[in-house]
Amino acid sequence: MKNLLLNQLSQDDFKRLEPYLKITPFKQHTILFEAEREIDRVYFPTTGVVSLVVTLETGEMVEAAMVGSDGVVGASAALDGRISLSRGIVQLAGDIVVCSIDGLRSAALQSPTLLSLLIRHEQTVYAQAQQSAACFATHHIQARLCRWLLRARDLAGTDTLNFTQEYLAEMLGVRRTTVTVEAHTLQSAGLIKYARGKIQIVDAEALQDGACECYETVKRHYARLLGPGKQ
Ligand SMILES: [Zn+2]
Repeated sequence: MKNLLLNQLSQDDFKRLEPYLKITPFKQHTILFEAEREIDRVYFPTTGVVSLVVTLETGEMVEAAMVGSDGVVGASAALDGRISLSRGIVQLAGDIVVCSIDGLRSAALQSPTLLSLLIRHEQTVYAQAQQSAACFATHHIQARLCRWLLRARDLAGTDTLNFTQEYLAEMLGVRRTTVTVEAHTLQSAGLIKYARGKIQIVDAEALQDGACECYETVKRHYARLLGPGKQ
């Protein structure tokens, strides 16, 4: 299992969950669940990457958190409530291990270690969402774009990201023309290359220099809450 949480499970916990797990390929832009709706499955991404987005009455959506092989999507709804607080959308196509909500709930209720892992993980999602709010309010779009590309690169495990500029603009909550200008600046400086629907990260180190502090802050939260030796 190429998912950090599933990998961290003890043998007993994994055995409890195993009957409910199914590796499923997902296409880009698949909506896993809508906000304020009941959900019946949770998702442990392996090669796929999922965005948790806030939808507005105008139809716009802005990203609150990005979850990939380092996490799970929908776990808090599984523990109780069953209602999703955001829309879950597949940002990059790939495999996701799908688990029934009842399966995860009953396994977590039998295992304090699994319950603790899921609660710590939900804290990382909360940490991302609060960082996104601060980032949106105070950081320059170019630094935010660098941050966003680095996080997507970490989760996708590749330097080639299949994103259109329209999609980037939507996730970052800015106009498409703004993303075009910023992407052009990054390309001219040799940090990225972009062609139709694809962004190639050329110089990740320089991208890190250009990113706002939020990239490292979120990474630190993940390491503290879910890093090695936490279970
Ligand atoms: Zn920021």
